[in-house]
Amino acid sequence: MIVLVINCGSSSIKYQLYDMPSKIVLAKGLVEKIGENGSSLTHRRGEEKFEINQPIPNHKTGIELILTNIVGSERGVIASVKEIGAVGHRIVHGGERYSAAMRIDQDVLSCIEDCCDLAPLHNPPNLIGIQECRNALPDVPMVAVFDTAFHQTLPREAFLYPLPYGAYERYRIRKYGFHGTSHAFVANRAASILGKPEQTVNLITCHLGNGSSMAAVRGGKSVDTSMGFTPLAGLMMGTRSGDIDPAIIPFLMSKPEYAKVSDVDRVLNKKSGLLGISGVSNDMRDLQEAATREGSDSRAALAINMFCYRVKSYIGQYLAVLGRVDAICFMGGIGENGVLAREKSLSGLDNFGIILDREKNKEMVRGKEGEISVPGSKVKILVIPTDEEGWIAVETFHRAQ
Ligand code: ADP
Repeated sequence: MIVLVINCGSSSIKYQLYDMPSKIVLAKGLVEKIGENGSSLTHRRGEEKFEINQPIPNHKTGIELILTNIVGSERGVIASVKEIGAVGHRIVHGGERYSAAMRIDQDVLSCIEDCCDLAPLHNPPNLIGIQECRNALPDVPMVAVFDTAFHQTLPREAFLYPLPYGAYERYRIRKYGFHGTSHAFVANRAASILGKPEQTVNLITCHLGNGSSMAAVRGGKSVDTSMGFTPLAGLMMGTRSGDIDPAIIPFLMSKPEYAKVSDVDRVLNKKSGLLGISGVSNDMRDLQEAATREGSDSRAALAINMFCYRVKSYIGQYLAVLGRVDAICFMGGIGENGVLAREKSLSGLDNFGIILDREKNKEMVRGKEGEISVPGSKVKILVIPTDEEGWIAVETFHRAQ
């Protein structure tokens, strides 16, 4: 079956076309700057890359352009759109309703719409993506794969905030967790690597990228995660603060430069994290260069140390939550390539049976998968390149049959 995976943002559409169940990527690409000047499509077929610059006034044109380019001999890989057997949509928020991917029907659409309040930047464009695909491919089954679904197995003591209970009942304020597709894929993959059934493995999964989150996974199910009501919570990130004392917010708002809600929102989401502390960049590679240049007292070095300290703190928390841990898994741009970040985050954990092999750690970069712990390490340490699109394709393939 040919499966098209769509990730629709407010001004962009990412896509990948898969041959399933082999999971071979036939083509992929990105529509950018929808409705803006300089809109374009970057389309890839194997090693070939095509740049198409043209006005793309709306998502409808974007979807049509994608479909035109995946068909035919010039840039395409299929003879007709009729070959597409299913479309999988990445949906950020499924609220409390969905704990798994769903075949899209009126109920699913209503739920996604209902959750626009909880993910105002993401769910509305996700919905537009579904509508436009349905218009272009009316007879093709569509599947929604939710970022929040994997974390719906959190117990109440983990997902509730100690606020008045009415905040949960009236406004649905609770921990939802995100990056679920990545945590689910890696948990599944880790079980295969360990050679054990997924229902028997306990894992700490660390998705470390520009956005970062960790999860405690018991028997293949998420029982806690670091992101919360929004993706701002938990770890320190590229530009996001992660957890801070909530009283800082009203305190900041009492100062003239942060008086508006939008000022605080901007500082916490766009000006904090690695960028806020270092003053240099939100990018881990830039910080490593700056720290090498400027020394261990620099703010770039401090930002790296703070990032790793928080990862380590969550490892400690999830060791306690899980009791027994089979493996700690690293994924995401920093998780997959950040030799230094992994080393710092795992340093001093030998007494917990977590012992890194420094040499293996150095080798595990650029898409390599494998173990980086010493043979005697009670808790294995794994690097697993994440594959969110591939997981969406798998979920879509199974649910579209
Ligand atoms: P996003 O959350 O935007 O998908 P990614 O998962 O692509 O982010 O991760 C981006 C982060 O990965 C950046 O901070 C980048 O510096 C970091 N990264 C990529 N390659 C390396 C590397 N070789 N060493 C350290 N960090 C790296």
